[in-house]
Amino acid sequence: MSTNEKRFPLSLASVVDQRGSAGKRSTAMPQTAVKNAANNVKPAQTFRSSDNRLTQTSPHPHQPTLPGVGMVSDKFRQAMVSRVAQQGVKDDLVLAALEAIPRHLFVESGLASQAYIDASLPIGHHQTISQPYIVARMTEILRNGKNLNKVLEIGTGCGYQAAVLSLVAKEVYSIERIKALHELAKTNLRPMRIANIRLHYGDGMLGLPQVAPFDGIILAAAGLEVPHALLDQLAVGGRLIAPVGGRHQVLQLIERVGQQEWNSTIMEQCHFVPLHQGVI
Ligand code: SAH
Repeated sequence: MSTNEKRFPLSLASVVDQRGSAGKRSTAMPQTAVKNAANNVKPAQTFRSSDNRLTQTSPHPHQPTLPGVGMVSDKFRQAMVSRVAQQGVKDDLVLAALEAIPRHLFVESGLASQAYIDASLPIGHHQTISQPYIVARMTEILRNGKNLNKVLEIGTGCGYQAAVLSLVAKEVYSIERIKALHELAKTNLRPMRIANIRLHYGDGMLGLPQVAPFDGIILAAAGLEVPHALLDQLAVGGRLIAPVGGRHQVLQLIERVGQQEWNSTIMEQCHFVPLHQGVI
C-alpha cells in the first residue's frame, strides 16, 4: 500500500543532538516539564535546530525578529511549550515531545518564523498544520498517562503530529489522502530519521485493517461523525480522539470498553479542516 515502506524505518543518525551547553533547557518552562524532558527524551530523539530558516525577519507584528543564531529555535520552542502547559496540558511526556520536535521544519521557509506561535498555519492544498496546543491536548487525551503501542493518525498533512506521536508511542501509522501532502510529509520526516513512523497514502476513513487493532487513533480532520471502520479498528481498552462537526466542532473522545461497546465523551471546542472521502 505505502510506497514509502522501503524508506522506513530510517536511522536516527542524522538527528542526534549532542546537547552541549548550548542545548540546556530554559528556566522559563514549568519545572515538571523540564525534569521530564531531561528524563524522557533521549539524546537520540532530539533534533538539531540549527536551521537557518529561522534567520528571517518575521512579517508577524507580535513575533520578534529572529536573529541568525542556530539554537534560537530552541528558545522559541521552549516558550511555545510553556504556553501549551499554561493552557492546561499537563502530560510531561507530551510536553517533552513538543519540545523535541522542530516544528519550524514542518512549515515552508516563509512561515518558519511563525512556527512557534499558537496557531495553525497553511501547508498548501487548503490544509493546515494544527496549532501546537491542540496537537498536545489530543496527544495527552490519547495517551491518558499510559504507554501507547500502536497508534493510527488520520490526516498526516505535513507530518508534524506524526513526529510528536513518534515520541510517545512505539509504532505510528499515519494516512494522508492528498498525494502531494503524503510526499511532503515524507520529505519533512526523512531527514529526521524517525524509525517508528509508517506513512500511508490512502483514504483514512477506511483505516488500516491490515495493521489493526490500534490502541490509539487520532483524527486531524473533522467529519460529521467518526467513521465506523475506525471504531472497529480500535483495540478494546483503546482510545480514539477526533474533531467532530461542521461549522461548530468539538473534540470527541471514544473509548472502546468491550467488543461491541464504545463510550463517548465530548471534551472541548475545536476547529479543524474537513475530513473527506477518497484520495486525490
Ligand atoms: N496532522 C497534521 C494536520 C494536517 S491537516 C499536522 O500535524 O499538522 C488534516 C489533514 O487531513 C489534511 O492533510 C487532509 O488532507 C487530511 N485528510 C482529510 N480527510 C482525510 C482522509 N479521509 N484520509 C486521510 N487524510 C485525510
